[in-house]
Amino acid sequence: MITVVGSANLDLVVSVDRHPATGETVLGGDTSRFPGGKGANQAVSAARLGGDTSFVGCIGEDAAGETLTRSLADAGIDLGSMERSSRPSGLAFITVDSDGDNAIVVSPGANDALLPEHVTTDAVRDADIVLLQLEVPMATVAAAAAHASGVVILDPAPARPLPAELLDTIDVLVPNETELAMLAGVDPDGPIDDLATAARTLGPPTVIVTLGARGALIVTADSATLISAPTVAPVDTTAAGDAFRGALAVGLDAGRPLEEVVTAAVRVGAATTMVAGAQPALPSWSDVDERIGTT
Ligand code: ADP
Repeated sequence: MITVVGSANLDLVVSVDRHPATGETVLGGDTSRFPGGKGANQAVSAARLGGDTSFVGCIGEDAAGETLTRSLADAGIDLGSMERSSRPSGLAFITVDSDGDNAIVVSPGANDALLPEHVTTDAVRDADIVLLQLEVPMATVAAAAAHASGVVILDPAPARPLPAELLDTIDVLVPNETELAMLAGVDPDGPIDDLATAARTLGPPTVIVTLGARGALIVTADSATLISAPTVAPVDTTAAGDAFRGALAVGLDAGRPLEEVVTAAVRVGAATTMVAGAQPALPSWSDVDERIGTT
């Protein structure tokens, strides 16, 4: 069983010719609303890939919260441990310019009301896999990691410094190359060997670095293995990393060997780049095969 502890946000996406300067108003296209947030995305990814998944998060008592709940429930996720707050649901205000570049403001709202006492529960303690990110308070993340008895996976995003006590409780750390650069002080575009050496300084016994179109790098104490991503024509890379981490949780929950798990996860990440939006893009295994083929 997989328990994801993290954020749920409604993404409000508007296309613009260019982002406004301070004090300026620009007219954009129609607003698209996509359920998102790293925690909810990773839970939906795991559930669509067949994982027995619970989500522990906090949403507001508002229309956005209803939309977020519906998306999670439709994916078959257990919401018995989800909290509600009088604060507004988390919202992400996203403008996308004609070059496809994003500018994003996240208002965490109810996500900030997820407290340590909400995660020191059976859903976290009894899970085989606990999957965490950093879009809820750090004290809550640390409490969940300390309370877990299963394998603890941390996506250290959005990047911020990690307390040593938290790192001590992490089994699998999954930064992207930018987060690795921030955490370990390495050039993200440097040689793979340098990334592996830097990853080993962080502490967790396994570090998996996602590398976008290059795939992912598995780093343990005595090995570094690059798993290449399939070549695809990306439409929107939103949630590719979340899809990857959901797939990782499902593969580890099934007890498969790590290289096999990451090989499947890079295919899931690549397939996610081929559809727009966050949760709408997250694939099932058959979607992965349909989008990028079976070889
Ligand atoms: P994050 O969102 O955490 O930065 P990445 O951008 O590294 O994550 O993407 C996660 C995974 O999604 C990658 O490891 C890769 O498998 C896949 N992926 C992302 N972008 C591409 C791309 N342009 N082509 C193929 N696969 C991609």
